[in-house]
Amino acid sequence: MAIQELKINTGRQGLYEITDEISGFITKNKISEGICVVFTPHTTAGITINENADPDVVRDILFGLEKAFPDRKEFIHSEGNSAAHLKASCVGSSVNIIITNGKLMLGTWQGIYFCEFDGPRSRKVTIKVIVDADL
Ligand code: ZN
Repeated sequence: MAIQELKINTGRQGLYEITDEISGFITKNKISEGICVVFTPHTTAGITINENADPDVVRDILFGLEKAFPDRKEFIHSEGNSAAHLKASCVGSSVNIIITNGKLMLGTWQGIYFCEFDGPRSRKVTIKVIVDADL
């Protein structure tokens, strides 16, 4: 059973690329064919796949989410972080990536990111691989 947990200490808000950690897990476990699930068990953080070539894209994603989901005086959640909850639901808490020939089938410009919307916090990401023999 191929499963691993990553720990990430975050700042207030940000996208943290975890592609290398996930690729390393695939290599270490000699997984050739399968499906990799990357999941985070938090309600104000998420997982997404997006461009890792131009760092301005990450900056613009955070800027755009801030504009789309600003803090609002009408929010009633007592913790005061409803905007972060909205961003987390928008982004989602997991991604699936196909593994073939021992590699993640990501596009040329794609990277896997952990998204912090309400840090700083100590966060967890779980990687689980279902190898073809299990299916
Ligand atoms: Zn909350």
